[in-house]
Amino acid sequence: DCSLADILEPLLISAKAIAQERKLKLITEIQQNLPLVRANVKALREVLTNIIDNALKYTPTGGKILIQAGQEKANFQGIVISDNGPGIPPQDLEHLGERHYRGVQAQTEIPGTGLGLAIAKQLIEQMQGKIEVFSPAINSKLTSPDAPGTTFIIWLPEVEN
Ligand code: ATP
Ligand code: MG
Repeated sequence: DCSLADILEPLLISAKAIAQERKLKLITEIQQNLPLVRANVKALREVLTNIIDNALKYTPTGGKILIQAGQEKANFQGIVISDNGPGIPPQDLEHLGERHYRGVQAQTEIPGTGLGLAIAKQLIEQMQGKIEVFSPAINSKLTSPDAPGTTFIIWLPEVEN
């Protein structure tokens, strides 16, 4: 059983350092005393690291990232990782979670192996959780408060009392 606040704390420290270096605004809203979730701590850390890492690397300078814990839906706790970067176009969205799949834009501009989300998806499924992705059907390089952006929500089952 694990506490989302405890798991997120060290990850947010390093995310803040990278955000500062990349001149990104990182907003964190982590509620304390949330219901505990049923998860493998090591695996969950890896999942969160991969998704936060994506937000930090695909969001252009000046962009904004929000990391939030405190969503609840049908006995699941959700961790939201949202950015106002380029977004993921529909043709890429279909393939997310496939091993070595990289977005068309990412392939040419930002290094990576295309494994981060495939690993995240597999680990979350092993924990009986879910990953949701929201991204509007645009692929613009603009970053403004109303830029398209990407939102991931990682849902984990709450511990039953
Ligand atoms: P790595 O294995 O180093 O993580 P990667 O980041 O390319 O490589 P994934 O993390 O699996 O691989 O992501 C797959 C693709 O999804 C990326 O190549 C990118 O096109 C797209 N993507 C993921 N997260 C975002 C995001 N926050 N904003 C825009 N595109 C994203
Ligand atoms: Mg990645």
